[in-house]
Amino acid sequence: MNLIDPRTAIVLISAMSALMALVLYALKRSYPPGIQGLGHWSQALLIIVGGGILAASRGKLPEILTTVVPNFLLSWGVYRLYAGTQRFHDVQPHTLRWLGMIGAVVLATAWFTWGDPNYSARLRLMAALMAAIFARHAWFIVQRGMGSFSRWLTVAVLTYIAAVQVVRLATTFIWPAGDTILDATPQQALFIASFSVSVLLFSVGAVLMAGDRLRAELEHLATRDSLTNTLTRRYMDEACAIELERCQRTGQSLAFLIMDLDRFKVINDTHGHQMGDRVLVDFAAKVQGQLRRKELLGRFGGEEFVLVLPQTTLDEALKVAERIRKACMPGDHEIGCTVSIGVTASLPEGDSLDKLLARADAALYEAKNAGRNRVVAG
Ligand code: GH3
Ligand code: MG
Ligand code: MG
Repeated sequence: MNLIDPRTAIVLISAMSALMALVLYALKRSYPPGIQGLGHWSQALLIIVGGGILAASRGKLPEILTTVVPNFLLSWGVYRLYAGTQRFHDVQPHTLRWLGMIGAVVLATAWFTWGDPNYSARLRLMAALMAAIFARHAWFIVQRGMGSFSRWLTVAVLTYIAAVQVVRLATTFIWPAGDTILDATPQQALFIASFSVSVLLFSVGAVLMAGDRLRAELEHLATRDSLTNTLTRRYMDEACAIELERCQRTGQSLAFLIMDLDRFKVINDTHGHQMGDRVLVDFAAKVQGQLRRKELLGRFGGEEFVLVLPQTTLDEALKVAERIRKACMPGDHEIGCTVSIGVTASLPEGDSLDKLLARADAALYEAKNAGRNRVVAG
C-alpha cells in the first residue's frame, strides 16, 4: 500500500506550509495589533517546514540533521501553533515548561538513535509527544467556547491529528515501523498524509478564526461608544426603528427614556475632564446594572443617554426610571451627578421615533426646570 513516496509528500507539505505561513504573515501585517497569535502561527509553520525539509534530506546530510534536529523542529513547530492559539486568546504561553518537555523527549530520541538504535521507540516517543500537544491545543480551544465554524474546524483538525498519532503509536506494537520515516509503511503513509491535510486545514481554521475576531472587533467599534461601552447613536437609531415596528405589530408599547446628568459641567470644571469621563463610565455601569438583557442603552452625546424598553408600558417605564434615578444618586463622599429622566411610551394608534424623542425630550426639559434629580413622564 505504497500510495505516495514519503519524501515527495514531505516536500509537498513543506511547500504548502510555507505558503500558509506567508498568508498568516500577510494577515499579521494588515490586521489590528490587538489580534495576536498570527505571527506565532506563521513562525510555527516555518519551523515545521524546516523540520520537514531536514527529515526529507536523510542520506544527504549528516544523520543528526535528519533525525534529532527535525524531531525537535517538528515538535517545537507543533507546540508553537498552540502558543499562537494561546496568544490569540490573550493567554501567555508557558514556553519554558514546554521547551523542557520537548527537549527531554528529543534527547530520548537521540539515545534511541545512537545509544541504543531503535526506530520504533523513537517513533512511539514522538507520536506520544505530538498527540499530547495536539490534544492539549484542541482542549484549550474547547474551553474557550465553540461558538463558530472556524473553531469547530480547528478543534476537529487538532483532534483528528492527535488521534492519528495515537493510532500511529499503537500500530508500532502490531506491525514493524520500518527503519526511518522515509520507509513507506502504511502507517508512515497515513501519518504523512494526515499531517499534511491537518497543517493545511489548521491554517485555514486559524485564518478563519482571525477573520471572525476582526469582524467582531469592527462590529464592536461601529456599535459601541468607546468611553462608556453603551450603544452608539447610529446603532440606536436603527435598533429603535426595528423594535418600534415590532412592538406596534404585536400591539405592545415601547418605552423611551432620555437621561441627562445634572450639572455635569461642574464636575468637569472642578475635578477635570478625566474625572468627568469617570463619572460617565460609572453612570453607564450603574444603569446597565439595573437592566435586563433585551434593553437598549445608548449614548446620544455628551452626558445624555437614551434607554429603550421594548414591550414596556409607560407605568412600568416610570418604575424603571425611578429605580435608575435612585441607583445613580452619588453617595456622601462620591464624586458624581444626579440624573434627570424624561420618559414616554409609544401610543397604540401609531407613533414615530421622532415623536417619541420629542416627547421624552420635553419631559426631560420639564424635569430640569422643576429642579433636576427627578423623573417626568411625557
Ligand atoms: P444640566 O443639569 O442642565 O444638564 O447641566 P450640565 O452641566 O449637565 O449640562 P451642559 O450641557 O451645560 O454641560 C454638559 C457638559 O458635558 C459640557 C461638556 O464639556 C461636557 N462633556 C460632553 N462630553 C463629554 C465627555 O465625553 N467627557 C467629559 N468629561 N465631558 C463631556
Ligand atoms: Mg446635563
Ligand atoms: Mg445635556
